[in-house]
Amino acid sequence: MSDGSCTHIDAIDEVKPAAAHQCEECVKIGARWLHLRTCQTCGVTLCCDSSPNRHASRHARSVSHPVIASAEPGERWLYCFVDDAFVEY
Ligand SMILES: [Zn+2]
Ligand SMILES: [Zn+2]
Ligand SMILES: [Zn+2]
Repeated sequence: MSDGSCTHIDAIDEVKPAAAHQCEECVKIGARWLHLRTCQTCGVTLCCDSSPNRHASRHARSVSHPVIASAEPGERWLYCFVDDAFVEY
């Protein structure tokens, strides 16, 4: 994958899919989510910034895993929090 500026997305050969269609953190606390994102470093699936708990971006910042992929059916894109880079694949 390449958008020409983000080395994190450049380094991804194969996109990690969601293991389960649920936010792992929301499930633990009984919260709801809107959309799901899968961390491309460790493969955890968490909720988007439009969800009340924003677990995906919190995870990205707290453990420095820069790239997420959409886990929504029909959506094929990657996003890097470090470079604010968005790539469709
Ligand atoms: Zn990047
Ligand atoms: Zn969540
Ligand atoms: Zn991660």
